[in-house]
Amino acid sequence: MNRVLVPLQLDSAAPALGAQLHQLDGQTMGTTWQLRWVATTHAATEAADGPVRAAVQAELDLVVQQMSTWLPGSDLDRFNRAPPDTWHTVPHAMAEVLQAALWLAEVSAGAFNPAAGALVNAWGFGPDPRYTDPGFVPPSADAARAALCRSDWRSLRWDRERQQLWQPGDVLLDFSAIAKGYAVDRVSRRLVAMGLPHHLVEVGGELRGAGMRMDGLPWWVDLEQPPTDPHQAPLPTTRVALHGLSVATSGDYRRVYTHGGERRAHTIDPRTGWPVAHGLASVSVLHADCVWADAWSTALTVLGLAEGVALARAHRIAALFVQREADGRLTETPTPAMVELA
Ligand code: ADP
Ligand code: MG
Repeated sequence: MNRVLVPLQLDSAAPALGAQLHQLDGQTMGTTWQLRWVATTHAATEAADGPVRAAVQAELDLVVQQMSTWLPGSDLDRFNRAPPDTWHTVPHAMAEVLQAALWLAEVSAGAFNPAAGALVNAWGFGPDPRYTDPGFVPPSADAARAALCRSDWRSLRWDRERQQLWQPGDVLLDFSAIAKGYAVDRVSRRLVAMGLPHHLVEVGGELRGAGMRMDGLPWWVDLEQPPTDPHQAPLPTTRVALHGLSVATSGDYRRVYTHGGERRAHTIDPRTGWPVAHGLASVSVLHADCVWADAWSTALTVLGLAEGVALARAHRIAALFVQREADGRLTETPTPAMVELA
């Protein structure tokens, strides 16, 4: 292990003596969730864990019910199917995510785009068609351009006061790059409200840690790394103390296919309409809120190394960029805010 990151502010409240480690897991959003927490309140039995499981599942289900692209009838799905020139009341959680997403779309000049659903679908990363379907064909340049025309987040109108969103016609929202992080935050807040401040929450690889483990140490997590070529030296491990801190990693090695010798990974550059292909293998972002870690990791992936580092620096985002060089070597670039944690 070569790098250890610890947040600048530490809260010394440790779990009470006699506390026990509890663990739960389950399925959500086409992936898995996991929870570990430390508490004295009840024995670590499945029956006693019931209320925690119910609370976690309720938070995750709420996010799915409002923001899933995959669930017919979700609030997001109903907006996507709505006729042109219509206003739609957005439920509270979806409004929070929309607002965060629109802010990041603005500051990243559209690299992050919550209205990129038509592009995501065209490239086979939405519900239908799926790139894994037999006979799936990636879009032609014309089809990609047509999807690009339907992906203008600036054509949405958001009335914050009335919590209403305008469907200009044919715009498809996609919150998949931010909703998992938001769900992690909701679960973490719910646990705190239940009197469980010492926990580690994970949804599909996005994590938030709060409080401490049973031994009074923080929740240590190693950043996820891209697979390395067996001929190359392995990357150093980065171990992070998730103490009131979240981490999300975007990578080009999950959900990817090859067409005509080109890699097509699931992050789309909404400014060109094409999947990103500038050699970033992964971007990890550390942030107090998992919603921001998740969304920033996608935004920085779209921007690529040079532009991404510049924007992350400007916003004091702690990020680690892993670039795949022409010879297959992986090189790491941490931002100054990431270096400060070391
Ligand atoms: P990763 O962990 O690699 O960041 P996520 O699941 O968080 O992956 O986000 C990827 C998903 O986000 C894609 O499958 C797509 O639905 C959506 N997406 C792709 N490109 C963008 C983009 N530029 N802005 C916002 N969402 C995007
Ligand atoms: Mg993401």
